Amino acid sequence: METDRFAERVVERRAGSDRRRGRQAEQSRLRAIVEQMADGVVIIGLDGIIRFANPAAEALFGRSAAELERTSFGFPAVAGETAEIQVVRPGGASVAAELRVVDMNWEGEAARLVSLRDVTDRKRAEERAAQLDGERIARAEAEAASHAKSEFLAMMSHELRTPLNAVIGYAELLDLGIAGALNIDQRHQVSRILASGRHLLGLVNEVLDLAKVEAGRLSLHTGLAQASQTADGALALVQPVAEARGILVTVQHAEEVETTYDGDEDRVRQILVNLLNNAVKFTEPGGSVRVECGLTKKPDPEARLMGGPWVFWRVADTGIGIAPAQIAAIFDPFVQVERGHTRQSEGSGLGLTISRRLARLMRGDLTVRSEVGKGSVFTLWLPAVSGAAREAARRRAESPDSAPRLQGLAEAGEALLHEIEPMLNAFVARLRTEPLMPAAHSLRFSQLADHIGTYVANIGGVLVAVEEARGQPSVLVADGSEIQRLVAERHGSQRARLGWTADALRREWRILEEEIERAIRRRTQGVEEATIEEGLTIITRLIDQGIELSCRSLTRALR
Ligand code: ADP
Repeated sequence: METDRFAERVVERRAGSDRRRGRQAEQSRLRAIVEQMADGVVIIGLDGIIRFANPAAEALFGRSAAELERTSFGFPAVAGETAEIQVVRPGGASVAAELRVVDMNWEGEAARLVSLRDVTDRKRAEERAAQLDGERIARAEAEAASHAKSEFLAMMSHELRTPLNAVIGYAELLDLGIAGALNIDQRHQVSRILASGRHLLGLVNEVLDLAKVEAGRLSLHTGLAQASQTADGALALVQPVAEARGILVTVQHAEEVETTYDGDEDRVRQILVNLLNNAVKFTEPGGSVRVECGLTKKPDPEARLMGGPWVFWRVADTGIGIAPAQIAAIFDPFVQVERGHTRQSEGSGLGLTISRRLARLMRGDLTVRSEVGKGSVFTLWLPAVSGAAREAARRRAESPDSAPRLQGLAEAGEALLHEIEPMLNAFVARLRTEPLMPAAHSLRFSQLADHIGTYVANIGGVLVAVEEARGQPSVLVADGSEIQRLVAERHGSQRARLGWTADALRREWRILEEEIERAIRRRTQGVEEATIEEGLTIITRLIDQGIELSCRSLTRALR
């Protein structure tokens, strides 16, 4: 019996120590696994005191296991829950950690296993994404606002231009004496209305240009042109003003190879005229303005250009100069530095803004150097064209497919407005050789052409207005037809006085129509027929109306 009980006790003890050994083996296996885990793991007792921390937890907390163990965990740990905590390391840096808790048994006692995953990078990425989203939305809103502003400006400019064209048109009618002769005072007053109206129209056109550039709606005609020819063209327009102000303007062309550039010649001339006008405006009488154009591979470092070589035009004056602090601002819209001697009403502060934007649209730039009291040098840069590229462009121009495409009525109208002078010359020259109207052979240019200029400009303006108003009924179109009616009636009665017959009058209108068409085609060379057809059809309709109205008033006058 004794032996049996002893044997039982031995068996029990052995079983107990086996169980202990088993538990210890299990514990050390668990420890080994936990030590290896990539996530931080701390084991805490139900009292919240840390019993164990693995190496990943040491790294996360920035403290050794010895420092962590036997201290309070400090965060609520509820089994089955997930939470995000902010751990502050000894140096003060903080990391975000995602925390999960499960119940377990640790060294024979109930405990909690807390796993901690460092989510700082993920959080940063999320914050960055949110920030980028915010920035993207802000950018889109800013772009929409800027687009809306440009649309508004373009629309407003149109709304301003419309009545203004009518003001000028009617003032021209008064000036022509259509409603009766004016006395000297009236003539003087009408000429003031005309001068101010044209000035205002110039400003509105500038605002419209800027709005178009900003809305990305400005169409540039691509092509090749000669730098020196463009400079001469600009100079011719400014010379009279310069002379009147007592300022000497000289031009110096590059002697080397012909300097061909790639750009819209009209726009380049517009930029040069603006630079020359400014140079003349901000230089005292007796001063001088020098234009130099040439070719270079090395543009001034302040020019934002890539590639090369470059055609450049320098406009240098001996004027008042611009202070260094103001130099950057003069390219901003509506900035005028100097309220100078000619400042009463001139300038909008938009010229340089538009000029630089146009230059950059044509892959060039506009730069300035200036010294107060000594003068300023503005330089326009545009891509130069090599001999080979010139040849290729010439061939391209000859193939109809690649011709620049101008669009619709506005293009035909603008083309006509640009060509009024040469068109009138050609028209008068033809009248002078026309057998049906022998009286024309000995008449002065002004007698033959005076009101025709007004009439044709009006047609050009109407075409532009019809397109801009997107075909909607517009005041300008209504005023335009009124102005055309009055001019046509006057034309009939004036021709009656000059001895025209009704046949001669009809013939004259057809000559006018032909010359108008020729002028538009000259300006829109290579453009698809369909593009300008619509414009030409409208012109034929207007001319038909003109014939009817003028013939009626001719018959009335002859009676
Ligand atoms: P504005 O139509 O008022 O002349 P611009 O944009 O052409 O507008 O010029 C902006 C301003 O830059 C001018 O008002 C003037 O203060 C200054 N500026 C331009 N050109 C010259 C120049 N050649 N000399 C001195 N100042 C100039």
